[in-house]
Amino acid sequence: MRRVGDDDTLANSHAYHALAGVLSNGIARYTTDARIVYFNPGLEAFVGLRLADVIGRRPQEVWPDGRYAQLQETVLTVARSGREIRQELPAPNATGDVTYSLFHFVPERDEAGRVMGVLLLGHNMTERNQVENDLRLAASVFHSANEGIIIVDELGHICKTNPAFSRITGYEASEVLGLGYTFFDRGLNAADLLPTMRKTLQETGSWVGEIEIRRRQGAMATLRMSLVGVADSHDQLTRFIGIFSDVSDLKRHEIELDYIAHHDTLTGLPNRVLLTDRLYQGIAQAQRNEQGLALLFIDIDGFKPVNDNFGHQTGDRVLVEIGQRIQRSLRASDTVARLGGDEFVVLLPGLSSVAESEASARRLLQVIAEPLEVAGYRFSLSASIGVAVYPDDGDDADTLLRRADESMYSAKRTGRNQYLLTGSGLQRADTRQGRTVHELRLALELDQFEVHYQPIVCLATGAVVKAEALVRWRHPERGLIPPAEFIPLAEETGLICAIGSRMFSQAIALAEAWNRQQGGNILRRVSVNRSPREFLDPRGLESWLAILDERGGDVGRMLSVEITEGLLLHDKPSVIKQIDQLREAGITIALDDFGTGFSSLSYLKKFAVDYLKIDRSFVIDIASDPSDRVIVESVVLMARHLGIRVIAEGVETEQQAALLAECNCHFGQGYLYAKPLPADAFMAFVGAASPAIVAIDSP
Ligand code: C2E
Ligand code: CA
Ligand code: CA
Repeated sequence: MRRVGDDDTLANSHAYHALAGVLSNGIARYTTDARIVYFNPGLEAFVGLRLADVIGRRPQEVWPDGRYAQLQETVLTVARSGREIRQELPAPNATGDVTYSLFHFVPERDEAGRVMGVLLLGHNMTERNQVENDLRLAASVFHSANEGIIIVDELGHICKTNPAFSRITGYEASEVLGLGYTFFDRGLNAADLLPTMRKTLQETGSWVGEIEIRRRQGAMATLRMSLVGVADSHDQLTRFIGIFSDVSDLKRHEIELDYIAHHDTLTGLPNRVLLTDRLYQGIAQAQRNEQGLALLFIDIDGFKPVNDNFGHQTGDRVLVEIGQRIQRSLRASDTVARLGGDEFVVLLPGLSSVAESEASARRLLQVIAEPLEVAGYRFSLSASIGVAVYPDDGDDADTLLRRADESMYSAKRTGRNQYLLTGSGLQRADTRQGRTVHELRLALELDQFEVHYQPIVCLATGAVVKAEALVRWRHPERGLIPPAEFIPLAEETGLICAIGSRMFSQAIALAEAWNRQQGGNILRRVSVNRSPREFLDPRGLESWLAILDERGGDVGRMLSVEITEGLLLHDKPSVIKQIDQLREAGITIALDDFGTGFSSLSYLKKFAVDYLKIDRSFVIDIASDPSDRVIVESVVLMARHLGIRVIAEGVETEQQAALLAECNCHFGQGYLYAKPLPADAFMAFVGAASPAIVAIDSP
């Protein structure tokens, strides 16, 4: 019997060697008892041993670790059975990596057909597996990716899309295959992008950016896309792969963030950043069109107490309402921004005259001053406005803002509830303010403050039984100045204490004269306003009490002191003590402006109050607003329960007076009866109003 290796024409032939030598597949020959006869170079490389090292030996002898034990078994099986076997065996290579190889065992026969050896063909599967695996992986990535994938050929036709593509765009693959990539042209910016996209692709082989497309359902979507070109073996870009994710939500979020960065969260109005932006634009535009531009810096007067007394939530709602009012009173091209706190800025572009900005400022003062109801409270607020105009007051944003701010500050210092122009206005404002403080002192020295008295009428009988003392400043040049223009400054500087004392002693004089004139047992009371500032220093009260002492008698009974609700809020022992002292001196207490503050009736119970003055803002609408009527009615009802008498302020019409009387309100005060009158005019008024009483009771 011939055996492999004995006389092997094939093995010895050149052709055989040449063939086996170039094949990367492994080729081996074994004897029927599994001794190695031949390893081709491919196999030598695979196992890392040369033929000379292994020839004549069984695999098990060469590799006693048993790595080819199965292979040796199969060789023997084939030799015995004479049947060909294909087998996939885990075969470690020279470096020990297990690579799966497909082995093909073929029996070699002699001419008589007897098995004389076994030929082994080994296909190294590793590379093939790799490619297949890669393909499988690529396919699964393609199909399961969250990113949309689109493959375009060199002519720009879509040749493949994945499921995510359909999910994102709404188009099935079948609808877009073969279409030009201008499919993306349906978007807003894709068309603009295409040229640069193509250019970048040609130059660098890839492009990354955002494109906007219209989904099949019509909605716009923003895609973040990276495009790569795939070159063929000739370095020609023949395919383009676009991988994109839907960033619409992100984009929306970005837009939201952008909005937040440019708007005030509370009011939704533009913030300082956006205002500055618009201001720059406005200035540029004004320059081009040779127009003006105005900046109005608005600060709400006395806003802090709103927050302090009613809580920030209420304060916030007040600010929102004010913001809306401001916005409503402007043109669409104007901007109102909130800079924070109670500061707003209005930008008026396209201004043709300074007068226009003044008109706007006046309108703003008006809308802000309208009574405002929040959380069941009613507020009467005002604002101070500083106006700066381009180009007169500055030609850059910073200067204009600063000037407007300064003017606002001046407006505040010189009386609030007003606007001031910058430029010559600022000059005037500054000196006016300097003069005012100085002049206030001077006015005190020169006794320029006079008291006017406004009658208070018993609604049931029409008799004038009380009066309120209201200060005026008789200015040598400016005439009669109302208290709103100097009281805030007097309060700030503390001069109010000196003014108050003077008021007090004059009011006493009038009260005495009036009661003397009227005589009888009807007591006429004159009320004097005492601002919270005057309660700060208890020595102020001592001076009032000293004046009383000087007069002697029970003159205190002819007097009332009007205090504001805010004074009672903090329950300060020193304030309570002063109120008690006033009452001990026979002076009655009236709570002023009821309804504009926190208007808590519980305070009325806690602090002994004799009168309650319902604020003018309720009286104005009592005829037209049923809710105001209900408020007045219930306030009166509760006050009566507590033994408190109610005075309605600002009665201007007969109708209001009649309604107030119907509500059982005790007293009325207002222009219907008389404006505040100088002392002699007042005496004449009350003398004429009650001739009968004067006749009977006068001595
Ligand atoms: P107030 O205490 O609420 O005084 C009532 C104000 O309403 C007065 O304004 C009065 O002239 C005005 N008034 C009265 N009837 C009517 C009316 O029918 N219609 C309208 N529209 N208004 C009416 P006035 O005199 O300008 O005083 C303003 C504020 O200045 C006073 O408000 C008070 O808070 C303060 N004030 C006045 N005099 C003094 C004072 O001697 N000391 C202190 N601390 N404050 C004073
Ligand atoms: Ca008053
Ligand atoms: Ca009042």
